[in-house]
Amino acid sequence: MEKKEFLTGKCIDISFEGKGVIKTEQGIVFVDGAFPNEELEVYVEYTRAGTKFGKIRRLIAKSENRIQPLCGICTSCGGCQFQQLSYDAQLEYKTNKVKDAFRRHFNKDFDVLACLGMDNPYHYRNKIQVPLGKDIHGNIISGFYRANTHKIIATDVCYIDDERSRPIIKDIKSLMRSFKIEPYDEDKHTGCIRHILIRTSKHKDQIMLTLVTFLDEFKGKNNFVKAIVEKHPEITTVIQNINTRDTNVILGQKERTLYGRGYIEDSILGVNFKISSKSFYQVNPIQVDVLYGKAIEYANLTVNEIVIDAYCGIGTISLIAAKKAKQVYGIEIVKDAIIDATRNAKINNINNVKFECDDASKYMLRFNQLGIKVDVVFVDPPRKGLDESFINSLLTLSPKKIVYVSCNCETLARDLVLLSSKYNIDKIQPVDMFPMTHHVESVLLLTIK
Ligand code: SAH
Repeated sequence: MEKKEFLTGKCIDISFEGKGVIKTEQGIVFVDGAFPNEELEVYVEYTRAGTKFGKIRRLIAKSENRIQPLCGICTSCGGCQFQQLSYDAQLEYKTNKVKDAFRRHFNKDFDVLACLGMDNPYHYRNKIQVPLGKDIHGNIISGFYRANTHKIIATDVCYIDDERSRPIIKDIKSLMRSFKIEPYDEDKHTGCIRHILIRTSKHKDQIMLTLVTFLDEFKGKNNFVKAIVEKHPEITTVIQNINTRDTNVILGQKERTLYGRGYIEDSILGVNFKISSKSFYQVNPIQVDVLYGKAIEYANLTVNEIVIDAYCGIGTISLIAAKKAKQVYGIEIVKDAIIDATRNAKINNINNVKFECDDASKYMLRFNQLGIKVDVVFVDPPRKGLDESFINSLLTLSPKKIVYVSCNCETLARDLVLLSSKYNIDKIQPVDMFPMTHHVESVLLLTIK
């Protein structure tokens, strides 16, 4: 075995992906869990495209922002890069991350508001998915995949998941033993349950359990489900999802409801949403009110205004905006999301929203051709941001205000360079939707010049 080379160095920054940037005599090494000003001994684990990635061997001088993490396995799980960083320092990092992105793209400093964090930054996730397997003793285990492998690291705790979920997972494993239901074995293609998914509702007492099975046949399912629900009456619906493919994608196409109504409900800023096992829904139900609350505040809608919610997903922003505006048009490329959005409008008795399934750029073009005057446009695009044809259509449409919700400050700042030809950047507000991770969302108000 090749001998590991140990290097000492100082952490000079945190990278865009949340890794410590360690300056050593042999160059820069990126390592998880190292924070600015720390001196460390590290080793290189692998090199990708000339960039060295490593691990910490020894901490020589600690950052004053380093704290004892709650989770004993946060360094191997990889889900929470920042559990060892104080929450105040996490928020400061996020504010600066947005600032840096703007500085790089504009070559000047912007006023970025302080990142809005949570009072309690733990146990916020409403969607939990865990793989099942067996350990070498044949015990059923659940946990997470070790980074870049399919080896399950067994754990029954997680400090960011909704606390209601872990006791359910624990009891499912013990009931599987009593009912002789096997976890799926990826190598031998035997066994039954591959993954357990739990979605919890923040505002209603409802929990959805989805059992992802390898085969359609699920022997003993009725008694098994009955036993789970008896033990956990807080579960209001149970779904069997069938995924026969050899893939990293957790959910298959086909599913059936084994118990309850097949969906749960939750609400954002007073609007109700029906959530099925496959629906997209924001995973931090507390901060989603903060993020979209700011978006609505910035739009400052009045009853005569026409609004477009491009990239509308299941219609969240559209439906909240519809309560204040004259007419809202929601546009989204995924058909299932549009079906959810339309259903969500109905259950809330909201009639002034029109949802359409199309590419946002094409849709905007059509609006331009029809000559419809639009007052406010919300955009909440995926990580890759807006494309140029969308930006051009948006500039032609020239709404008074644009509210940009972004999950990637790099593409956000890039897009803003183009939009700023016609728009002032009035507010840049980062919001912490994912405490303990390096991700940061932002909401911006742009007004026409
Ligand atoms: N505000 C939404 C979430 C938006 S996430 C909600 O709360 O549900 C970004 C959305 O943009 C995704 O739903 C994605 O499917 C959609 N999308 C991606 N590319 C698109 C395109 N070219 N045109 C329209 N929608 C697109």
